[in-house]
Amino acid sequence: MEKFKELGLSEFMLAAIEAKGFTEPSPVQAAVIPTLMNDGGDIIAQAQTGTGKTAAFAIPLIEKLTPRTGKIQALVLAPTRELALQVATEIESLSGDKKLRVLTVYGGQAYGPQLKGLRDGVDIVVGTPGRVIDHLDRGSMELSSISYLIIDEADEMLNMGFAEAMEQILARANPDRRTLLFSATMPPRIADMARKFMKNSQHITVKKRDITTALIDQIYFEVKEKDKFEALCRIIDIEKQFYGLIFCRTKADVDQLVRKLLERNFVAEGLHGDVAQAQREIILDRFKAQKLTILVATDVAARGIDINNLSHVINYALPNDIDSYVHRIGRTGRAGNKGTAITFITPSEYRKLIFIQNKTRSEIRKAEVPDVKEVIKTKKARITEEIDAIVCMGDEEGRFTKWAEKLIEKYEARDLVAALLKQSFEEELDEQNYGEINVPERGGYRVDTRGTTRLFIAVGRVDGMNPRSLVDLIRTTSNIDDRLINDVKVLEKFSFVTVPFTEAESVIRSFSSGKQRLLVKKDRGPNTAPGSPRSGGFDDRPKRQASYKKKY
Ligand code: ADP
Ligand code: MG
Repeated sequence: MEKFKELGLSEFMLAAIEAKGFTEPSPVQAAVIPTLMNDGGDIIAQAQTGTGKTAAFAIPLIEKLTPRTGKIQALVLAPTRELALQVATEIESLSGDKKLRVLTVYGGQAYGPQLKGLRDGVDIVVGTPGRVIDHLDRGSMELSSISYLIIDEADEMLNMGFAEAMEQILARANPDRRTLLFSATMPPRIADMARKFMKNSQHITVKKRDITTALIDQIYFEVKEKDKFEALCRIIDIEKQFYGLIFCRTKADVDQLVRKLLERNFVAEGLHGDVAQAQREIILDRFKAQKLTILVATDVAARGIDINNLSHVINYALPNDIDSYVHRIGRTGRAGNKGTAITFITPSEYRKLIFIQNKTRSEIRKAEVPDVKEVIKTKKARITEEIDAIVCMGDEEGRFTKWAEKLIEKYEARDLVAALLKQSFEEELDEQNYGEINVPERGGYRVDTRGTTRLFIAVGRVDGMNPRSLVDLIRTTSNIDDRLINDVKVLEKFSFVTVPFTEAESVIRSFSSGKQRLLVKKDRGPNTAPGSPRSGGFDDRPKRQASYKKKY
């Protein structure tokens, strides 16, 4: 709050800001608020979407206005109904006990309530240009004594075809007002309008890289290099809607991470300098359309990607410099949406992180990698919600109802539902899909020993195998401690064993080369439904839907 205090705001305002949860002003707020608090000329402020422009004018406006003078003191023009409502809500939520009356007027809404509001007297009108002009023409709105005229989202107004309407309003409002214009970009037509209708104006431009990180929850995980992948999988799985860009340092890192994600049945693509232009465009189109929700990239390859409504940006590796960090994380938390930026650091990178934190003047808080149990729990919650939705929609075509009736006659409902859940989700909800992570704890590392994998081995009793000889074979071929080989099951033509996640790859590899060549692969499980998320079928559906809301 220190920085807000320095802007010369009153106690009540600071309290309202604090109650709203703002802790420090965004750059555009830091520039606009003090200027507006002082008497002076007009202001043209250019800063991209999501940088807090609304509060930049709302805060000083609330400070300056006197409730209930009986006259409209400020008019805010917004391009759409939604934006007008958003502005009004932001003003109201920052007003605290100061009872300013705010009225929204926009097209499509009945005139009645608007007329009544205007008759009763309001302090601030937030409206779309078309409807404001209607009221001016009807004589139901009077702008001859306003003190402030604010044009919000000016470039968007232009896109909506409101250029002339805006000029008309500017021409008809009190000439002694103060005019403020906010825009993400400055098209020539807007610049012209500003020249024509604004006086003695001060330009405030917030450079792209100074975007506020206010909407970005920045967190970091301290993990060993070898645990990063497992941590990433859990993060993706615990999110309801993961839509993220994952940054790696090199091309090779990108390729490797994509390969590992695909192995874990995530749908992911990589972008780096060696990806051909045509391919790049295909990938980006799919990513933009959210058909692809996990994109791995290098800094260079991600440059120029104009997608910024991501739920997550993940720094799988720390960027080389502060600019890259700001640039990377700025792809989330835009346009009023909250975003999460996650940075993985190895224990030795802690100082580097603190440096970034200080330089960017942001808070990067430490979080723990979600626990497997928690991931499973959120997945279950997600499945339950999906089932709720399906039940609500009903079986319109009656494709399943008859079948269901037959099954219900045959079994207890509880057993039946349990069986269906098992068939659909057993594999997806298996804790053993997750690997282990060394969780740093006081007094050293605690080893989370959960993750194991079931391996299929193409030898069986017909080959003269028994459990003892199979374990011996695995031990000698892949050099793993036989205590790590469990649940050995030798069948007629093949066998199964369980080994720790970390050993599985090396067992598979050792059997795929050398003198003991044998097919060994990860078992998909006999109970997996065809085409279900982990069955490895070649369907085109997203193999993994992201999971539920987390608390890291
Ligand atoms: P813009 O108009 O620049 O696109 P908004 O004014 O709509 O951005 O603000 C985007 C979001 O950021 C809103 O949800 C707003 O409440 C929030 N916000 C604004 N200023 C701050 C701040 N200083 N700290 C935290 N959140 C803020
Ligand atoms: Mg805005």
